[in-house]
Amino acid sequence: MSNVELNPEQILGLQDSHIIDMGQQRLDAHTAHAFTSLQEAAARDGFALEIVSSYRSFERQAWIWNQKATGQRPVLDIHSVPIDIKQLTPEQLVEEILNWSALPGTSRHHWGTDFDIYDAKTMTPETLQLIPQEYESGGPCASLFNWLSQHAHNYHFFWPYASERGGIHVEPWHLSYAPRSNQALHDFPEALLYQTLEQKDIKLKEVILPLLPQILKKYVYNINHPPFTS
Ligand SMILES: [Zn+2]
Repeated sequence: MSNVELNPEQILGLQDSHIIDMGQQRLDAHTAHAFTSLQEAAARDGFALEIVSSYRSFERQAWIWNQKATGQRPVLDIHSVPIDIKQLTPEQLVEEILNWSALPGTSRHHWGTDFDIYDAKTMTPETLQLIPQEYESGGPCASLFNWLSQHAHNYHFFWPYASERGGIHVEPWHLSYAPRSNQALHDFPEALLYQTLEQKDIKLKEVILPLLPQILKKYVYNINHPPFTS
């Protein structure tokens, strides 16, 4: 396993040479190693810690983005009700899509350091909705979440979306491996992202490009930082 830091193309999801396969899921090799230790510790305490979503490429995120921008996938409002996007200005549409989907190049899932978890003893990927109630008191993943709250930091994992910060909503299922993701965030290649969005087929990019500094501030840099130094 190389100790090389994530390069700009890897940070934007354009290159996956740092990613390894672990059965159904794909992660950064360092993250995969640490996750396996966390998973074994969870198993000793009676939990089936599993990943439902891990690495995602720029191309995959661009596909999701374009489907929403062209109305081929529903754009949902804050109460999960589909919006009639024909009533929106392009700026409003960008804002609504960003409530639920990352702009291609800005998802932490591109890094392979971040992933979404659940308890396979109480849920299946098919029944899991990834809503906060599932992880709160009384929910099927609440015991696992409590266990992680006490143990994840020992393995250098943290929750970048632990509280509402006016950007991405609270995601108790989303864990990040700090030693690798801190570097990716620190070295985030803003200029390369701009050039990439300019060159690729990304719907609404004429609206996105002038707003890029604000989008990065609100959705990329605006996280809960880990409560420990790695
Ligand atoms: Zn996630």
